[in-house]
Amino acid sequence: MWRRIYEGLQAHFPAFSVDDWWGVTDSFARMAGSILVQNTAWTHAKRALEELERAGLLEPEALTHAAPDYVANLIRPAGFQQAKSAALIRLSQWVLEKGGLDALLSGTESADELRQELLQIKGIGPETADTILAYALKRPAISGDAYSRRLYERLTGESLSYEQIRRAMLNEFHQVEELQRLHGLVVEHGKEICQKRNPRCGICLFASHCNRLSCDPYSFI
Ligand code: SF4
Repeated sequence: MWRRIYEGLQAHFPAFSVDDWWGVTDSFARMAGSILVQNTAWTHAKRALEELERAGLLEPEALTHAAPDYVANLIRPAGFQQAKSAALIRLSQWVLEKGGLDALLSGTESADELRQELLQIKGIGPETADTILAYALKRPAISGDAYSRRLYERLTGESLSYEQIRRAMLNEFHQVEELQRLHGLVVEHGKEICQKRNPRCGICLFASHCNRLSCDPYSFI
């Protein structure tokens, strides 16, 4: 099913690119952004990232040695600043323990191995870990986030958990680039068309297969 969704979305958003990850290209900045965006909009997380960059803290060595209160003050635009500051510092320490970002990027540890380690870091849950793995550490991973769960539920009428959605997508896709693109396209569709409230079904490519509109969902699957 996810392969067909992917192909449909590719055709619908031909110019879509995940190369710049919503304006952030640096791997460590993507890791930090994955924490900062928790429970807030990306615009707020981006402002916090910019504050960290201005302060010279957007790299693990500097962030590890920074005072938690100072970091918290800088990232205030993203909210939950004390918890996020502590998580950022713990993540930086983990990166250094692993030998640095280059070692992580060129290492042979699998997505599952790194995921288990990331999930041990307080303040990093499954969605943050999967985002870090996919977009910063370039591993075959994907988040079964709210956009994916909403699209699946509306298309099929079936509600799946984060883990069920994640595993279903990983069963069909194995390449890093495709997984990044699948997630990015689902998010784009969720923001532009299949919105939480008032989805724009009239312009949706899935309209003739969507359970929400009482079509036969299995004609799509
Ligand atoms: S038809 Fe409507 S509810 Fe169904 S996937 Fe498209 S936008 Fe979402």
